[in-house]
Amino acid sequence: MEVVVTKAELKQALTQIRSDNFGEENTVALVMTMGALHDGHIRLIKAAKLKAQKVVVSIYVNPLQFGPNEDYLKYPRTLEADLLRCKQAGVDVVFAPSDEQMYGITRQITLKVGILATIFEGKTRPGHFDGVCQVVCKVLNLVKPDYAFFGQKDAQQLAVIKNMVHDLDMDVEICAIPIVREENGLAMSSRNVYLSEKSKQKATLIYKTLETAKNKIMWGSSIADTVDFCKQKLSAVDGIELDYFEIVDPFTFAESANVGQKLVICAAKVDGTRLIDNLLIEDPLN
Ligand code: AMP
Repeated sequence: MEVVVTKAELKQALTQIRSDNFGEENTVALVMTMGALHDGHIRLIKAAKLKAQKVVVSIYVNPLQFGPNEDYLKYPRTLEADLLRCKQAGVDVVFAPSDEQMYGITRQITLKVGILATIFEGKTRPGHFDGVCQVVCKVLNLVKPDYAFFGQKDAQQLAVIKNMVHDLDMDVEICAIPIVREENGLAMSSRNVYLSEKSKQKATLIYKTLETAKNKIMWGSSIADTVDFCKQKLSAVDGIELDYFEIVDPFTFAESANVGQKLVICAAKVDGTRLIDNLLIEDPLN
């Protein structure tokens, strides 16, 4: 496994891994992360390895996607352990750039996300998706992968990235991977390290309530009644501060119609740590 920190080194490493196949070009899959790797990230890497001959992982805590009152400074940074996990998972190249490498000193051109940046995650975190697009666009341009893997855990981010790739005619296939959870249902996240054991236990209520919503919908409850019920249930818990709980269209994040696939989405602070989770409801008529 090669670890590179500059764009020039990355370019060299990419030429190498693309061409070590007796005249035929290898396919490349990219997994973008902010490090503090857990089994969710490793699932993405494993899926990438099945799809492409070579896998590149980027590890970069992107300052542009954090708001001024968010956890950029205290976000967990565990590069040594991350590199070990990447090596064990069979990654070919890790790109771990500095801020200077990523952004340099001037930035004249920035991306701006439309409606998706004004609702749910976008509403609570102004500028977040613009920052995500800026870094994803840059790393896609640097790596030029055939495939890029993203987790369903960040469902709205996935929708934003799919839109970006479509709207800007970017030549890459976006592959989505289901959420990896702890045994108790808690969605794995680098931010779970902020939670005490007691808070982790409390956080499992988010997933349990998503499941309640799914069951209620499957049994014929209306979207409005289901959402009201679940909101009340979560809001009543001491230490849970609900941001949103909704059932939306998984592609547009607009209000869900009664037919077709639906996505139950939730964001809440649990004892001060902001967590997001979601659950897909397949169309019972299909
Ligand atoms: P992050 O390091 O949090 O920026 O995440 C990097 C990628 O891993 C994103 O595409 C996430 O959606 C994905 N990811 C994070 N947690 C999980 C999880 N529990 N299951 C599946 N994918 C995940």
